[in-house]
Amino acid sequence: MDITEFRKRGKEMVDYVADYLETIEQRQVYPDVEPGYLRSLIPEEAPDEPEAYEDVIQDIERVIMPGVTHWHSPFFFAYFPTASSFPAMLADMLCGAIGCIGFSWAASPACTELETVMLDWLGKMLRLPKDFLAGTEGQGGGVIQGTASEATLVALLAARSRIVKQIQAHDPQRSEVEIISKLVAYSSDQAHSSVERAGLIGGVRMKKMSTDGKFAVCGETFRKTLEEDKASGLIPFYFCATLGTTPSCAFDRITELGPICNAEGMWMHIDAAYAGSAFICPEFRPLLDGVEFADSFNFNPHKWLLVNFDCSTMWVKRRADIIGAFKMDPLYLKHDHQESGTCIHWQIPLGRRFRSLKLWFVFRMYGLRGLQAYIRKHVGLAKEFERLVRNDERFEICADVVLGLVCFRLKGSNELNELLLRRINGARRVHLVPCQLAGAFVLRFAVCSRTTESRHAQEAWRHISELASELLRGQKPRSDGTNQISLQTETSSALIWKRLRAAQCDRSAAWS
Ligand SMILES: *Cc1c(COP(=O)(O)O)cnc(C)c1O
Repeated sequence: MDITEFRKRGKEMVDYVADYLETIEQRQVYPDVEPGYLRSLIPEEAPDEPEAYEDVIQDIERVIMPGVTHWHSPFFFAYFPTASSFPAMLADMLCGAIGCIGFSWAASPACTELETVMLDWLGKMLRLPKDFLAGTEGQGGGVIQGTASEATLVALLAARSRIVKQIQAHDPQRSEVEIISKLVAYSSDQAHSSVERAGLIGGVRMKKMSTDGKFAVCGETFRKTLEEDKASGLIPFYFCATLGTTPSCAFDRITELGPICNAEGMWMHIDAAYAGSAFICPEFRPLLDGVEFADSFNFNPHKWLLVNFDCSTMWVKRRADIIGAFKMDPLYLKHDHQESGTCIHWQIPLGRRFRSLKLWFVFRMYGLRGLQAYIRKHVGLAKEFERLVRNDERFEICADVVLGLVCFRLKGSNELNELLLRRINGARRVHLVPCQLAGAFVLRFAVCSRTTESRHAQEAWRHISELASELLRGQKPRSDGTNQISLQTETSSALIWKRLRAAQCDRSAAWS
């Protein structure tokens, strides 16, 4: 492909992407394929000779799209959102074109410097304490990690390195291995699985704290556990608090936990992967109160702030803690402008993409107001869905609806709710995932897509309550968790979906 063809194909690709996103609602949100579906659709080996671009593109609808879960469909309500916006996609294109690897300031000064300044911009939007900002002479600052999981791990490793150095400064006889064998880290029993994995990778004990009636860790529980562990000779060194837990969007009580961590000389990291974006709204900012006690704070603009994956923003109060833990100094990374407050050596990989371009484009094209409006709209849709659930006395709400997540279930057994979810996902019109709260099987409705509107939430609810009625009447499902929709007696809705999909395929064929 030469530059002339690239111009042409690039414009076509933008059209394809625009068509895909414009009509995504008509695609079935969750695919019908079985594991291993793809291997038989393409050759077993890469081609010896170059193929035509048309042939590659035709295979998108034949091979790829049938196996895509459409995360940006307004009927996708599973997990938490992953962000998508046009400015971010365009910035990513530019990032690909510049194609630098920003591992040091000299490797691409704009890449390193824009990142530092964007993290300051975002830190100010969140009203983070000044300690977390780099400015021109601050001790803190922010960096873009790939994911929240990496941020949790980086913070744990930095905390581990800090505590070992502190202990050895007092007692040079103690070996690193011996100290690490006594370390203990903590999180909530509602924390994301990546927190436990950080403990595994970091080679330290990780204890999960039990939570209260609001699924939050409180100071009282934490203090008790700490006393027990210290009495048995362990060294508490790290606490990962969660703001906005994955199962139910609960908030650990960091105003109680933070002072304890500070008094014990422990590192407090805050994982606000999903909820963090909401803190740009003054009405949700109180949920972040207590961040002043933290050593590090992280959230994912790639979840809820319109910045496409991957972009997980992490701030530390003392960047020396992190740099001290990870820095290597080979000759090929030395240059004439060392340091200057720039965010290198703050992560596990050496190489880094120019991801701050996405932040810059999105912040400027939406403005703080636009971003706030977006968050508020999603929260409003969750509240609307909550009202629909509450108005149906067969159902119950299982956790406070604070942001864009509604946890709900049919009053009744776990089996009944499992069956309901299987029917919902089997019908393929909306997509949800479950969670477990205090032993109960619970359905999660997360407002995800940028284009979700009231009518989608309403339609989703109508559909879910219809399926619940059928289930409670003991009717057989129309199509149940299998990929045999076409083999079973088709309902009108399944037919409509099929027709819409066929229409979409025709469109694509005409396009190529
Ligand atoms: C989604 C989520 C994560 C994982 O985020 P990644 O960026 O995929 O690592 C971690 N913690 C919480 C609370 C989450 O909701």
